[in-house]
Amino acid sequence: MKKVTIIGGGIIGLCSAYYLVKEGHEVSIVDQSSIGFGASYINAGYLTPSHIIPLAAPGIVKQGIKWMFNSSSPLYVKPRLNASFLDWAWAFNKSCSSENVKQSIKAIKDINLLSVDLFSELKATENFGFQLENKGLLMLCQTEAMLKEEIHMATIASNEGLEVNEVSLDELKKIEPGTTINSIGAIHYKCDWHTTPHEFMSEMSSWLENKGVSFYKNEKVIDIKASEGKIKSVCTQNNEFSADEFVLAAGSWSNLLSKKLGINVRLEAGKGYRINKEEDTGISIPAILAEAKIAITPMNGFTRFAGTMEIAGINHKINPIRVEAIAKAVERYYPEVVISEAEKKQAACGLRPVSPDGKPFIGKSSKCTNLTIATGHAMMGWSMGPATGKLVSEIISDKKTSLHLDPFHPDRKF
Ligand SMILES: Cc1cc2nc3c(=O)[nH]c(=O)nc-3n(C[C@H](O)[C@H](O)[C@H](O)COP(=O)(O)OP(=O)(O)OC[C@H]3O[C@@H](n4cnc5c(N)ncnc54)[C@H](O)[C@@H]3O)c2cc1C
Repeated sequence: MKKVTIIGGGIIGLCSAYYLVKEGHEVSIVDQSSIGFGASYINAGYLTPSHIIPLAAPGIVKQGIKWMFNSSSPLYVKPRLNASFLDWAWAFNKSCSSENVKQSIKAIKDINLLSVDLFSELKATENFGFQLENKGLLMLCQTEAMLKEEIHMATIASNEGLEVNEVSLDELKKIEPGTTINSIGAIHYKCDWHTTPHEFMSEMSSWLENKGVSFYKNEKVIDIKASEGKIKSVCTQNNEFSADEFVLAAGSWSNLLSKKLGINVRLEAGKGYRINKEEDTGISIPAILAEAKIAITPMNGFTRFAGTMEIAGINHKINPIRVEAIAKAVERYYPEVVISEAEKKQAACGLRPVSPDGKPFIGKSSKCTNLTIATGHAMMGWSMGPATGKLVSEIISDKKTSLHLDPFHPDRKF
């Protein structure tokens, strides 16, 4: 049995704690917030084995530069003369290659598929009630060019053994009868699932508390005491936490802490927004508006609209232009769904921890023997949460890992 301190109580921290407890370790979680604040509460709740193509793919830099001049575009990168950002941007640009896409597909698919199984397994084992549905994910297209691109992506996914098919307009009306959809066609990834994030987070937190996990809330880790490549303790304003092993699961903030150990975890925060609508929308199948890059999820008791990726440093400022862009895009695809001013005012944002090559960082750096890094999951951290937690626990328990970890190595070169 080891004493383990986890920095960060998002889905990655909680799932790591879950599997560590299952292995018999003594676990504490330290979080700078009252928990309920990270990206894990803002996301679209998708479990997406379908999303096997990383963000860092050929063409994205050119597209990103075009979008930089449009204040309502789905991707915005704020250029900054900041060494950490420039280093990340260099690594991202280098990763935008067919080679990276080819190398990443299997790793991204395998960790997502493992995670889907684990979500189901832990729901059944712990008798959790959180929403977990397998209605798939629709990619709704309004233009021939986008439909062609989506058919190409679907062929790649299908060749990887994922269940996906093209849906005609007639079929779309049959599978989604509760609302009108303005689209010329769609792809249906039947392999995908969806959830209501706060339900999972709250049940998992209670479970962990009942099993004796200590939660230290509103405790920001500000310093790390280490010598000879080993952490002795992590310090907050009020406390010092010593342990045998530490887990760095601080989402977009992780590299601020890893730098204290001389470890360069290349990360940028990718801000995304969500709007909730409690009134019935008639939407029953999750969908991505392919041109607008907006995700729609029928959650338990409300519909969530989520989108945009703003790479502009760590901040939680809400840009009303982007919120408006999400609302307008929804109305273009679902003309019967109108998002009210009050709903727009309630919009919230979260920071995705974005690695340069689209793969998370999971494992130990050669620079520190008792720190397991688990971050950088970007747009798929929700989907990959349980699998990451299991891998973290296997690493700390000196067990054979369920997946090959090289693609996720924190020291990998770019
Ligand atoms: C709009 C939007 C939609 C998304 N949709 C999806 C989706 O459908 N599917 C999917 O798979 N993913 C999705 N994501 C991404 C996903 O939400 C993230 O990848 C995931 O939540 C990251 O989890 P995390 O635990 O690493 O980080 P977080 O949830 O951000 O948690 C990190 C925690 O660390 C704490 N922390 C940070 N610094 C310190 C410190 N110094 N001391 C103590 N505590 C600290 C923070 O307070 C926070 O609680 C979406 C994200 C957004 C924003």
